[in-house]
Amino acid sequence: MLEGKLALVAGVANRRSIAWAVAEALHAQGVKLAFTYQGERLEKTVRELAASIGSDIVVPCDVRSDADLDRAFGEIAGGLGGLDLLVHSVAFAAAGDLEGRFIDTTRENFWLAVDISAYSLTAMAKRAEPLMAARGGGSIVTMTYLGGERVVPRYNVMGVAKATLDASMRYLAADLGPSNIRVNAVSAGPVRTLAARSIPGFGSMTDIVEQRAPLKRNIDASDVAQTAVYLLDAPNVTGTIAYVDAGYHAMGM
Ligand code: NAD
Repeated sequence: MLEGKLALVAGVANRRSIAWAVAEALHAQGVKLAFTYQGERLEKTVRELAASIGSDIVVPCDVRSDADLDRAFGEIAGGLGGLDLLVHSVAFAAAGDLEGRFIDTTRENFWLAVDISAYSLTAMAKRAEPLMAARGGGSIVTMTYLGGERVVPRYNVMGVAKATLDASMRYLAADLGPSNIRVNAVSAGPVRTLAARSIPGFGSMTDIVEQRAPLKRNIDASDVAQTAVYLLDAPNVTGTIAYVDAGYHAMGM
């Protein structure tokens, strides 16, 4: 059902990125893709990855900047000829905040994490809305984590940002539903990516999942991608979180 759709994928840093797994899965469905990346440092990698699936629409976009977002959405809408699908796979917290106590988060770092990891979904959805509405509707998916609903040691301000992201996803689903635009989230279990490497003790997270999750195993980025594609395609699913964590979220202990 996604064949011929036009998608923007935000959040590819390298081939381990969850966003890249989603891009590959969408490409396999016949979707035409465009990419945004953060900063010159990532440009070469993202361009090479995009080229490997036949895309040359690769534009810089720092989600903290409204001017960047305006320019990027303009370039992408022009390059793709419209927009049907948006994959938001962007998050950041200052490294020092992913250890120690949440209570020590500074005001500046609190807003930084919420700005990049949560407000960016609203900022992107706002710019996607007219493009999607012009094509009769669309679908948006974001990446969240259980640390927004329960306390996960060391996830700290990132958990608060994910709670904000989850709530934003639901309010956006309500706002955009009348334009036939759906908004959902995938809650992934731990996947070894660049962002995950900045979480101290990440290895113990995967060990705990393997011991306690109903399926007694960890997941990988392609599992997340499969569910993201399902949510992007599912006609009457909006405002929801799909858990791809081998069932870990269902356990009390
Ligand atoms: P990743 O490092 O590959 O992706 C994070 C992306 O965010 C990078 O591409 C980075 O460039 C981008 N980003 C950060 N600050 C930005 C800014 N100011 N402007 C634009 N882009 C910016 O790591 P990932 O694990 O693939 O993360 C993708 C999403 O998945 C994140 O929302 C993350 O919280 C979520 N997630 C990851 C896991 C996991 O275990 N890896 C689990 C659950 C949810």
